[in-house]
Amino acid sequence: MWVDKLPSLLLACLSALVTLPSLAREPEAPAANTERLQQHISELAKYGANPEGGVSRVAFSPADIAGREYIKTLMRDAGLVVRVDTAGNIIGRRDGSDPKLPAIMTGSHTDSVPGGGNYDGDVGVLGAIEVAQLLHERGIRLRRPLEIVSFTDEEGGLIGSLAMTGRLQAGALEVVTHSGKTIRDGIRAVGGDPERLEAARRNPGELKAFVELHIEQGAVLDESGIDIGVVEGIVGIHWWDVTVDGVANHAGTTPMNRRHDALLSAAEFALAVNRVATALPGRQVATVGKIRAEPGAPNVIPGRVVMSLEVRDLASEKIQQVFEAIRAEAEKIATARQTPISFKELDVASEPAPTDERMRRVIAAAATSAGLTHRLMPSGAGHDAQDMTHIAPTGMIFVPSVGGVSHSPKEYTAPEDIANGVNVLLRTVLAIDGGKLD
Ligand SMILES: [Zn+2]
Repeated sequence: MWVDKLPSLLLACLSALVTLPSLAREPEAPAANTERLQQHISELAKYGANPEGGVSRVAFSPADIAGREYIKTLMRDAGLVVRVDTAGNIIGRRDGSDPKLPAIMTGSHTDSVPGGGNYDGDVGVLGAIEVAQLLHERGIRLRRPLEIVSFTDEEGGLIGSLAMTGRLQAGALEVVTHSGKTIRDGIRAVGGDPERLEAARRNPGELKAFVELHIEQGAVLDESGIDIGVVEGIVGIHWWDVTVDGVANHAGTTPMNRRHDALLSAAEFALAVNRVATALPGRQVATVGKIRAEPGAPNVIPGRVVMSLEVRDLASEKIQQVFEAIRAEAEKIATARQTPISFKELDVASEPAPTDERMRRVIAAAATSAGLTHRLMPSGAGHDAQDMTHIAPTGMIFVPSVGGVSHSPKEYTAPEDIANGVNVLLRTVLAIDGGKLD
């Protein structure tokens, strides 16, 4: 008997040894308050509400400025100490038990595009505040400081996160935003100081991690019925101007076999772009989105066509590979039709921003522990998180967007999906605080 019991006794002792210390370091995660989250979503939606049921809360507008005050109030209610950095980012901070440890930061943005919806950005800021609120009301003390951030002017070009990572170009301050104000005046209007942007800068190593909760803005999760997207990274985007040179000529007197029609070559080119991007393995996308024929008259054979080419992927090498394959196709078309095709890369490229692999694992484990399904996926849209990858291990959590609709008043994410995202965010924060990245 005794001998029989020995293994199970040993097992019991071992499991106590293994689980007790981790239990002591990582408290059980309370569940998000779905009703409270919904109420905060509805309340924030009043700032800049448009007749279609969405919001036009463009950065630095009166609606944005009023909405930011609401966010500060929620942060204070959640026990956070609130400040606005010189870039206008709102930061609510909660001290940890060890003040020497780098903080965990989470958040998103509350500005919208003109004619936007009630979830893009808002879910990540209100969700992060809900995490702080849950910790506050349950009296859960973290070892590390926790910072909740609402970034300035995300939709106008990731302004707040660029400033926080020391990468905002000086010229950007003079850009006139949808609010009518320049970014410089806008930052001033929300309590920042555009002359002292370097004070908003956080250095690599200063933050333990950054994590952003966001709606997917695509239909992958919604269509597959999966709860949580673990974002592998934000895709890089490259643009080219593509010019086809043919010969403009009389559309009535030039026989069909004596033409060098630039638009016909351009049409073949557009088909080739689609064919190349579809045929290569992977999730790259390539698009011809803009086209202009010259001289542009019904009775003239087009002598020149200028069009756009955009390629997106998670890897720079893949973007280059797709482009080379497209250029090879273009050469064939140019030779066959005797219409040279040339490419000029535009200086607006954004490089792919992969998330931190350990962060992906922590988020995936957090989803599983919350009883949720998850999948790895890229983000086809830009986010503040892509800037934060430059200074901190960064992760992103996606929740489903119904029908994949976004940047529209029809944007919608169900209350339980938002709560799921917050539960994963909270468990991610607790896991990092418990040492999962150490
Ligand atoms: Zn967003």
